Amino acid sequence: MARANISPIWLEAYRTFDEIERRGLALRLTCRKCDIILSADLAVLIWSQGRAASPIDLHPRCKRWGCDGRMFFQAQVGTVWRPLISG
Ligand SMILES: [Zn+2]
Repeated sequence: MARANISPIWLEAYRTFDEIERRGLALRLTCRKCDIILSADLAVLIWSQGRAASPIDLHPRCKRWGCDGRMFFQAQVGTVWRPLISG
């Protein structure tokens, strides 16, 4: 997996929650199954995952009642929300 070679440059700022907080970047979560969109709570993520952790390729469980889907993080790049998926 030579993922470092194909990752877009804007993804670099999202390598750690610490960096995202420092830059004040917006994050949200979307469910693959039910399509619900939730705001990501950076303080809670830092508490639960650690400052060195990354939202890239992280797929938490959907928080919607009754949904067993997995979510993925999205970052706002210009006016577009892009998935934080390295591959
Ligand atoms: Zn869901």
